[in-house]
Amino acid sequence: MIKFDFDIHEIKNFGMGIVLGLAAGALIVSLGAYYIISEDNAEAAAKEAELTSENEELRGQIRKENAVEANTETLAGDEDGWQLILVNEDHPLDASYVPEKLTEISPGYQVDDRIVSNLQQMLNDGAAQGLSMYVTSAYRSYAQQIETFNASMQNRLNQQMTPLEAYQETSTSVALPGTSEHATGLAVDIISTSYGELDDRQGDTAEQKWLMEHCWEYGFILRYPPEKSDITGIIYEPWHYRYVGKDAAQEITEQGITLEEYLE
Ligand SMILES: [Zn+2]
Repeated sequence: MIKFDFDIHEIKNFGMGIVLGLAAGALIVSLGAYYIISEDNAEAAAKEAELTSENEELRGQIRKENAVEANTETLAGDEDGWQLILVNEDHPLDASYVPEKLTEISPGYQVDDRIVSNLQQMLNDGAAQGLSMYVTSAYRSYAQQIETFNASMQNRLNQQMTPLEAYQETSTSVALPGTSEHATGLAVDIISTSYGELDDRQGDTAEQKWLMEHCWEYGFILRYPPEKSDITGIIYEPWHYRYVGKDAAQEITEQGITLEEYLE
């Protein structure tokens, strides 16, 4: 395409050159060609940049679609892979995914049936240590995630943030619909009865300290640890625990890594 444009210009300039005389013509041809080449180079560079960004967008799109498909298959399958499903902004879950069997762990809160016994055991053992905590969020459907996201954004808009600021702030703490682990039924938010806020200080409660130390024994990990936001894309969440199976949980905890790093 670029070459074709250049040829047309060259022929036109060459014609002018004949009228003005051979020597002058040759000069004009070479100057004209030089000018056209640099113009074409700039155009080509712009075109290439445009194509590159289009390609990257497409590649990202394809990657996401593949991830959605792979994630949904892994989760639905009976193989052990379901425990290690990765759901984040780059690995969204299909909007229509619903765990095959949901079981209530407390009134109004359901999780994937496959994690119930371990979760229950963890909560019971914590209680036996004199700790008081409860599940404040478990399985969330796609529709519920949209509600959660919108409510959080509305809160920020009410605090006089601009819509863009509100969106950006919300995205760092609430997963975009389709990118929340809560949709898998494998994640729970647990909070201490003594401190009801979902902020950093939640991590200082005796309940979270115990959970952080022992959750791997039950196959859970602290999914969004501090200092790892650049990898997980989510701020420190001392209340969000994710079931990954006992082997993976032990390895992830011992190495002090995230699920993203474990799966690399
Ligand atoms: Zn959570």
